[in-house]
Amino acid sequence: MKVGHRRDSRPVPADLLDDPRLEGLATWGAELAAAGLSPGESGNLSCRAAEGFLITRTGVPLATIANEDWVLVTGIEHDADGPVVTSRGLHEPSKDASVHAVLYERRPTATSVFHLHVGRLDDLQRLGVPATSTYHPAGTRESKEEIERFLDQHPDTRYFVLIDHGIVAWGETVAETATLVDRYQAALAEGG
Ligand SMILES: [Zn+2]
Repeated sequence: MKVGHRRDSRPVPADLLDDPRLEGLATWGAELAAAGLSPGESGNLSCRAAEGFLITRTGVPLATIANEDWVLVTGIEHDADGPVVTSRGLHEPSKDASVHAVLYERRPTATSVFHLHVGRLDDLQRLGVPATSTYHPAGTRESKEEIERFLDQHPDTRYFVLIDHGIVAWGETVAETATLVDRYQAALAEGG
């Protein structure tokens, strides 16, 4: 699948980078990486902004998120060839930006989204974590529609498995989102 970009390569506006939530996300990024939850420098973190959302750039090591690693995504459209992402920043946004976009669209109170390629997705499902039913590559229209369907069916779910892909957590604060990830990792550790 081809991902199209409409990219404004100027830096993200300084007032957005002053947002204290970014510091919180960077701190959590380092903790998640230290806990082994960012295999192969995967995973992406975001928070809602006035015109869209700020998300980590593609290929960022979560252990060391710097100011220049944030990208402002202001829109994602789907045309016949695939998604077209409109963004501003020094880098391309995470390839999974569309996963975050669906959450911000469908969950108006979400202010922060974590998406991680953690292992043991089957074990999480055995612990009762709900999961989407069919795998589609992130960014495709099918993936967007699958997540929308899932969210419609699970109005109270803030942590779920994207089947054969990873996990998604969202919260009304960065700390709430991070705590959800922590809680389920702890449950996995206890479950053996
Ligand atoms: Zn992913």
